[in-house]
Amino acid sequence: MAKLDSFASRWIGAILGFAVGDALGVPAEFMSRTELRQNPVTGMRSGGVHHQPAGTWSDDTSMTLCLVDSLTAKGIDYSDQMERFADWLWNANNTARDEVFDVGGTTKRSIYKYLQDFPPLECGETADYCCGNGSLMRILPLAMFITAKYGSLTLDDQSAQLIHNASKCTHAHPRCQMACGIYCSVVFQLWGGTSFLETAVKTGVMSALEYYRKKPEFTAVYSDFESLTGIGKWEESRIQSSGYVLHTLQAALWCILTTSSYEECVCKAVNLGEDTDTTAAVAGGLAGLWYGVEGIPSGWLRQTAKCDQIERKSRQFLESCFG
Ligand SMILES: [Mg+2]
Repeated sequence: MAKLDSFASRWIGAILGFAVGDALGVPAEFMSRTELRQNPVTGMRSGGVHHQPAGTWSDDTSMTLCLVDSLTAKGIDYSDQMERFADWLWNANNTARDEVFDVGGTTKRSIYKYLQDFPPLECGETADYCCGNGSLMRILPLAMFITAKYGSLTLDDQSAQLIHNASKCTHAHPRCQMACGIYCSVVFQLWGGTSFLETAVKTGVMSALEYYRKKPEFTAVYSDFESLTGIGKWEESRIQSSGYVLHTLQAALWCILTTSSYEECVCKAVNLGEDTDTTAAVAGGLAGLWYGVEGIPSGWLRQTAKCDQIERKSRQFLESCFG
């Protein structure tokens, strides 16, 4: 990779950091924390329940790349986003090895609804059991797009609506929408807020909570997120790492707050166990943005499937946002 200025390094680092985290997590998916403690992930591995070669990333990165493509080509266009998700699911576009081996149930059902001509913003499910991390796992490029276009450092009605709508295409429960909003608010702060990681994350969380506190449609889920303000001090035993959207957000914020390098952050995320790929991807996006692409071990980048393509797409995305 050619030497990048720090701006491009952080932009491209976010997307690559996300994909590398996903790939580190894939072979450990569904492993327990106890199992991983005995045999911790410290680099790329093959195998696992999906039987993939080392460096294979999953649905999280596929959907993130679909959103990168859509935002690059069309700006905000929810039908186009859904078209690209369908193209991934049916035709294995934007996959690591031209194969779809992993898709969440809520995501799949929403894509089917879209293909049955439901409007994109009515495809997502609202049931309480549909609070998986499927929209959080792809929201990162939208946060970057909003930062680039509007210079946002905090959520406002305009940016929140874009984020909530993007979630609603698959995950319409207020808890999923709010998790995406808080994550994006942290991205805004990591991008432009301060030179202190802890301050950036804390400000991102607190300003998002301040925004949601006054919104009646989020009253029922608000208290789920209130304790995030102190998450950097939580013991590991309190951090869960299932596919539940709240757990993924908690785990990702905890991992970036309790580590001091990209490598340490994503390894910690994977070794929490369970939904390892998504936890490490969501945490890895934040860490890649903060530490830049140079912070990602070059050996891991070399082993990551289609790394050059991801870098190229990220660069085109950057140019389309700022060009
Ligand atoms: Mg996955």
